[in-house]
Amino acid sequence: EEHEESSEEEDEEKKTLLTQLEIEATRIKSIGESRKLLPVYAYRTELMEAIKENQALIIVGETGSGKTTQLPQYLVEDGYTEGGKYQVAVTQPRRVAAMSVAARVSDEMNVVLGKEVGYSIRFDDKTTPGKTILKYMTDGMLLREFLTDPELSNYSCIMIDEAHERTLATDVLLGLLKNIMKNRKSLKLLISSATVNAKKFSAFFDDCPIFNVPGRRYPVDIHYTLQPEGNYINAAITTIFQIHTTQSLKGDILLFLTGQEEIEHTKEKIEEIAAKLGARIPQLLITPIYANLPQEQQANIFQKTPEKCRKVVLATNIAETSLTIDGIKYVIDPGFVKENSYVPSTGMTQLLTIPCSKASVDQRAGRAGRVGPGKCFRLFTKYSYENELEAMPRPEIVRTNLSNTVLLLLSLEVKDLLHFPFLDPPQISTLTKSLENLYILGALNSKGQITELGKMMCEFPCEPEFAKVLHTAATHPKAGGVLEQSLSIVSMLHEITSIFIGNKKEATARIVSDIGSDHLLYLKIYEDWESSNYSRSWCQDHKIQHKTMLRVRNIRKQLSRCCVKLGLTAKNSALKGDEGMVENVLIGRLTKSFITGFPLNIVQLKSGGYQTIGKSKGGLNVTIHPSSVIFQNQKEKGKKLDKFILYQQLMLTSKEFVRDCLPIPNDLWLTEMVPQIFDSLIDDK
Ligand code: ADP
Ligand code: MG
Repeated sequence: EEHEESSEEEDEEKKTLLTQLEIEATRIKSIGESRKLLPVYAYRTELMEAIKENQALIIVGETGSGKTTQLPQYLVEDGYTEGGKYQVAVTQPRRVAAMSVAARVSDEMNVVLGKEVGYSIRFDDKTTPGKTILKYMTDGMLLREFLTDPELSNYSCIMIDEAHERTLATDVLLGLLKNIMKNRKSLKLLISSATVNAKKFSAFFDDCPIFNVPGRRYPVDIHYTLQPEGNYINAAITTIFQIHTTQSLKGDILLFLTGQEEIEHTKEKIEEIAAKLGARIPQLLITPIYANLPQEQQANIFQKTPEKCRKVVLATNIAETSLTIDGIKYVIDPGFVKENSYVPSTGMTQLLTIPCSKASVDQRAGRAGRVGPGKCFRLFTKYSYENELEAMPRPEIVRTNLSNTVLLLLSLEVKDLLHFPFLDPPQISTLTKSLENLYILGALNSKGQITELGKMMCEFPCEPEFAKVLHTAATHPKAGGVLEQSLSIVSMLHEITSIFIGNKKEATARIVSDIGSDHLLYLKIYEDWESSNYSRSWCQDHKIQHKTMLRVRNIRKQLSRCCVKLGLTAKNSALKGDEGMVENVLIGRLTKSFITGFPLNIVQLKSGGYQTIGKSKGGLNVTIHPSSVIFQNQKEKGKKLDKFILYQQLMLTSKEFVRDCLPIPNDLWLTEMVPQIFDSLIDDK
């Protein structure tokens, strides 16, 4: 009897298994079919022929035509990886895109993500050496691979995707690839770009052919506002509800905003209004997407919109080209984007919200016409579109700090920066400033040659400034012995925008009643969490994001591993057991370490307010950001104003704020640690 029963169970199990297999087979079949429906599929033979004939090829095609997900698979299917001997690399300007596309393609190929198909982004490598043949990665990661393999000899094909975005890393990659292609004749280079830049890329690669994949695109009705909008968020929200209440429910909405804070704020407002209207309107599903959004939530934007519901995607310009969301019929475009802008004379980077280029707003409108005819609501005037917008966005290389890039190129033995093949050359003043910065950090000697320290900095997967902090904290005779603590602070600073659940001040109050700096607060958070055995409940109790802390821990692990590799631990452990190292000594050493990494990020108290230290003309007036513990200490606890404060971030927006602050209690430390600048810089001493 027993036997019979169990066999019945087995049968049941077999049946379930069979059904599962059937479902799986149908799923794979339907993926296979839908692959064939994509516009690139019709051109597969011609495309592969063109790739065979040319070393470099520019590929132009409508967003959603299958460039990113399909082309790399064709290369694999046509044997370009030679049974695992070589890899295919596909670069993306954005981390989110690299991860999400890799996930999609591994699904299409029916393999586990991280095996045959993987992704590699900073601090997160989901590939298996020896197994991964198709690798989606950020452009920055491929750039770093030049350090270990200057010929990129593992790759048979490299696809530089979204090249029109013109990120700094993509531009530098193109220059380096142009150089190595001369020696590696079998290397295939594919550059995918929006139409606007195609000719420029082709000219750069000796007039290589441009392959055009005609896409399907339905007409999009463009609507403008009659007057400029004073408050585009309110205007956007009004538009959402107008669409939602007057148009048929089929057709989702995509709204372009400039960043995380704006997106979260807008989401709350929409949900508030929707809650008030209650059952009078159909349900709205609000899904945000931006670079820092936790990975689990990113997948939400791809989920099918439920019945009797409309999806509203709130996106940064990540949704402009890199991600394709099906079902969008309405696009709302306020016409703004956040852009970094570096001012070499002051060495400062401003993050500004500026009007988009014409190319961008056209691209955004196109997102409404993928599944059928669509509508785009531009929250600016037709006059402004025709007369005021720039034709194209400015490439990053002309508006960013180049210290990282210069250091990388010098360590790759590109000696003559002025003759490096840049698609658009950077400003000379920016290059000069970078050389100066690197000299101050000790990465270059007075002849402009890279030093041992400079080479070490290159090895770190973080900015040279942070590498310098870690180096000092490990080895400096007067600041060393605090590597472990510095590692925690530096890792926390990498994720600082998403550590706190809600208000930082509230979270801080739960953790400590009195603390002298943001840096020490971050150290305390990390150490307390560590002592709780990295517990989730500790995070919940203290209003800290557990997921973010896990990422911090991972970053810390990798930076620490890098220190070990470079021999930066031995000296530290010698000092670690030092029992006399009281709190004050620790704080002193940490502060000194940060001074050596960020000697130019310092503000000085002058006539009651703070000013950046600057060579001539005096500095810029700045305010301590209210989220800083320094602000609370000074304004709310009435503590004495510190004479010098080091900051991690300067935000030049409506008001000039400094964030993440560390007071320097003794100004002699400045001259002691970085005499080359402070001997002459600090006035009224
Ligand atoms: P392109 O690079 O030409 O813009 P993609 O290869 O990214 O196009 O996308 C091709 C199609 O694959 C899209 O139209 C979309 O339908 C589908 N797709 C891409 N990524 C995903 C995803 N993460 N989830 C579901 N479908 C996706
Ligand atoms: Mg793409």
